[in-house]
Amino acid sequence: MKVLLCISHVPDTTSRIRFVNNQTQFDTTDVQYIISPYDELSLTRLLEIKEANNDLDITIITVGNADVEATMRKALAIGADDAIRVDAEPVDALFVAKQIAEVARTRNFDFIMTGKESIDHTGNQVGEMVAEFLDMPSVSSAAWLEIEANKGIITREMDGGKEVVEVKFPFVVSGQKGIAKEPRIPNMRGIMNSRKKSLEVVPAVAQDTVSVISHYELPAPKGKCKMIPADNAAELVRLLHEEAKVI
Ligand SMILES: Cc1cc2nc3c(=O)[nH]c(=O)nc-3n(C[C@H](O)[C@H](O)[C@H](O)COP(=O)(O)OP(=O)(O)OC[C@H]3O[C@@H](n4cnc5c(N)ncnc54)[C@H](O)[C@@H]3O)c2cc1C
Repeated sequence: MKVLLCISHVPDTTSRIRFVNNQTQFDTTDVQYIISPYDELSLTRLLEIKEANNDLDITIITVGNADVEATMRKALAIGADDAIRVDAEPVDALFVAKQIAEVARTRNFDFIMTGKESIDHTGNQVGEMVAEFLDMPSVSSAAWLEIEANKGIITREMDGGKEVVEVKFPFVVSGQKGIAKEPRIPNMRGIMNSRKKSLEVVPAVAQDTVSVISHYELPAPKGKCKMIPADNAAELVRLLHEEAKVI
């Protein structure tokens, strides 16, 4: 069996977020990049399936410039088998989905997996767009995934319950929290092996850009914290009423 896992290269969650050029561009100075956490958890689940069945080739794909290769090598070190980089800036979600779909179209993957959303732009759309381009069924936000001979069995969490969906190959699925307990950390052997694994670079195909980010805004800075003595509940009530105006 063959799976194509989409990996998004995103700023570490501890990065200081700043924008430049009239708030139109993310300032990448001193930013460390990581595998987007839902992609990392999806990779972990796929490795568990591979270890149980001994029959799953995991190819990862990232749409990005050469600087994403360090992130891709980490996924190879964790255990993915090989990698494809589409050599282009990921200008919007439709562009990214088109590139992934075009790679998948000729390579006969049994299924395609994405994360639920990237943690930078949090668009929550690439997987569904890939499915649409390829005319495949798509199941979003999988909290658990089992793979049998010709189908996936996907558990989705609902308000107060669970939904179990069976879907025949080929399909697209996105993984969310719960798909695996903990992301795996690459060990030394994995890091050494990752250097020998194939990382193919392919050119992008044409796709019109349909959305442009006009600007970014940071949340308003938090107000100053006021300390109120524990025995002065009346003052607390007065401040909540007159200043915060929440009661
Ligand atoms: C320099 C720059 C400029 C940008 N300008 C714009 C713009 O003008 N308009 C706009 O809409 N967006 C813009 N983007 C956002 C960029 O296109 C996003 O990467 C893209 O929209 C996908 O992010 P998302 O949050 O929509 O993905 P989601 O749909 O949230 O991601 C879901 C899953 O899709 C997969 N995935 C996402 N991105 C990739 C990827 N690059 N390669 C492989 N798999 C992936 C991952 O598995 C991820 O978990 C820009 C990004 C960059 C780096």
